[in-house]
Amino acid sequence: MKAKKIRCPYCGSPAFLHDASFVYHDKSNGGQLYVCSRFPVCDSYVGVHPGTTLPKGTLADKSLRRKRIRTHKIFDQIWMNGILSKPDAYRWMADKFCLKLKDAHIGNFSEYMCDQLILEAARVLKNNHVPLPLAV
Ligand SMILES: [Zn+2]
Repeated sequence: MKAKKIRCPYCGSPAFLHDASFVYHDKSNGGQLYVCSRFPVCDSYVGVHPGTTLPKGTLADKSLRRKRIRTHKIFDQIWMNGILSKPDAYRWMADKFCLKLKDAHIGNFSEYMCDQLILEAARVLKNNHVPLPLAV
């Protein structure tokens, strides 16, 4: 599969596909990442879906990467606790934010959108008496 042409949303530079060890210095990690060509000055990258060259979302800086992980931890509790099935949880997310289902992916979310989803998902968990996962 051919690498996609992607630009860094922070600095406008092209991003290139690298082995994850390029960023993590941990050969055991495996996988690939799209990394801003100005890395590490511009600390911006995104992983690919395993076995493909398709990015999991838009390139993210450290702050956004952390927030997306936190958002996923909270959102995933909805289907992991069986409040909704996984497909229904994504449909709920899409409906809540007037997104097309194909756009209802945390990997595409900004920090603002992550914050909104955390609020809404936390409300669903609270109403179903599921405790929030601990902060990461
Ligand atoms: Zn950049």
